[in-house]
Amino acid sequence: MDLDEVERALVVVAHCDDAEWMCGGTVARLTERGARVDYVVVTDGASGGVDLGVSDADLAATRAAEQRAAARVLGVSEVVLLGRHNDELRVDVALKRDIVREIRRSRPQLVLTMTPFRDLDAPLEWSHGDHIAVGEATLQAVYPEAIMPRIHPELAGEGLQPHTVSEVWFPVGRGADRYVDVTSEAQRKMDAVWCHHSQNGEARGDRDWLFGERVEPPMLRAGERVGVRYAEAFRRVAVPG
Ligand SMILES: [Zn+2]
Repeated sequence: MDLDEVERALVVVAHCDDAEWMCGGTVARLTERGARVDYVVVTDGASGGVDLGVSDADLAATRAAEQRAAARVLGVSEVVLLGRHNDELRVDVALKRDIVREIRRSRPQLVLTMTPFRDLDAPLEWSHGDHIAVGEATLQAVYPEAIMPRIHPELAGEGLQPHTVSEVWFPVGRGADRYVDVTSEAQRKMDAVWCHHSQNGEARGDRDWLFGERVEPPMLRAGERVGVRYAEAFRRVAVPG
């Protein structure tokens, strides 16, 4: 599926800020050309900080507000926060049902989600246990669960009908088979990443440092492979209809 064919996309991630880092340029490209993009963020992010003086509820509220601000920057239509505690995610029936519900509501052609396996050559943060769990739960939700009416039949009571996604894309450092040119969207991606102030402490307020040291390098590496300045790289999985 070419990106220009996508009219509806759903991004399913573990944490507030994952979507912006993973595919912020691709989301911006989609919404610029009129596609609808929705987000599902599985955790509340309440353990994503180092200050023990901040309550879980306050940090979760901060991160939710940051996520909504970032989504606005990228033109995302709806953000659903499932509110699970982070660093504890497992693939279970309840998580898959919650993701199936959002797939049947949003009815996307394309799902962008996290890589469901550990790549030992990638930076360790790419393979956070929550990321792997969300990638696997989402893939199982896409196929076969969202398609089959006898799986999670209670969702029919909410007016939600089965839905077949066309493709799922995972961000990868190696073995990519889909590259999205995000040269024109790189600064908007950075604007969205910068919304996550509670998670950007490493930059000490220096936006240029965060861009040059963290945001730009993977886009440059992916761009080099396809002859553009900046790209985001994905591995594609087609869903049987
Ligand atoms: Zn994350």
